[in-house]
Amino acid sequence: MNEFELIERYFRRDGGDGVLLGIGDDGAVLEAPPGRDLVVVADTQVADVHFPGDMAAADIGWRSVAVNLSDIAAMGATPAWMTLALTLPSVDEGWLDGFAGGLHEIAAAFGVALVGGDTTRGPTPVITVQIIGHAPRDSILTRSGGCPGDRVYVSGTVGDAAAGLAAWRAGERDGALVDRLRRPAPRVVLGQRVAGLASAAIDVSDGLAADLSHILEASGCGACLEVAALPLSAALRAGTTPDAARRHALGGGDDYELCVTVPPHNDTEFRAAADAAEVAVTAIGVLEAEPGLRLEEAGSVTPLADSGYRHF
Ligand code: ADP
Ligand code: MG
Repeated sequence: MNEFELIERYFRRDGGDGVLLGIGDDGAVLEAPPGRDLVVVADTQVADVHFPGDMAAADIGWRSVAVNLSDIAAMGATPAWMTLALTLPSVDEGWLDGFAGGLHEIAAAFGVALVGGDTTRGPTPVITVQIIGHAPRDSILTRSGGCPGDRVYVSGTVGDAAAGLAAWRAGERDGALVDRLRRPAPRVVLGQRVAGLASAAIDVSDGLAADLSHILEASGCGACLEVAALPLSAALRAGTTPDAARRHALGGGDDYELCVTVPPHNDTEFRAAADAAEVAVTAIGVLEAEPGLRLEEAGSVTPLADSGYRHF
């Protein structure tokens, strides 16, 4: 199978809102909805860096799109189109079937059309997805709008994917924690609903503490988190020691929840918006004028050293 047959067979799907020209030419031609600005994100997944190399191909396809949708969610945008740059050591039809299946499944679920890409041979699987979305100019969520006094919220539960990775490394291949790692659920609807109410937002990809620190730097303030308030799943509590659960919740990556800050006057409306999105949100702390991140635990407050995954 050559590269063009591969694209036809696994990736070409016709249609999509605003797609004037899709796969097959030198470039795609897209029409943005009137009055909306484009929001563009891209994320690369490298085998054995971002996902275990022996993960099922369908899960790799799903994740490659999900991590990008999570960035779109953190901007409060609506996803619309994507491109796929795929590097593979060889053409393995069974793997490609699975990969394309997972990728098209989540793309369809979120209304994203695959409009182009690139296909190359290389020593290890590398998958780069780019998603283009759109949003009204006045309600785009950024990292920089937080103010002292705003409450810090996180969606869902944190620490599950990191515990899932530890379980995977210990040989487990299913269960709630491993599922969080395999098939993250990006909080796209929540992001859209709370845009205009939250002052700042980020998705939790590198770990809650590290990602919240990006909001703090961009917003020019600090925060204090209440450790006892962190939302932990029943699976995490049951599957790890309290100490490991705390460590995964604060420092573990790959949860793809949203961490948002909310001004007090928007609090009630924010909670109603999260309800409407059918996503649980938990208040875990407050923004403060003093820079840095602090943890309140058992009645005492301690500064938290830098954490989170770094490639370099
Ligand atoms: P070019 O040589 O002009 O860059 P290619 O031969 O790489 O074009 O690709 C042919 C068409 O197939 C283009 O429209 C491109 O966007 C699309 N394409 C290539 N690889 C993929 C892929 N993995 N997924 C989706 N579309 C792809
Ligand atoms: Mg060309």
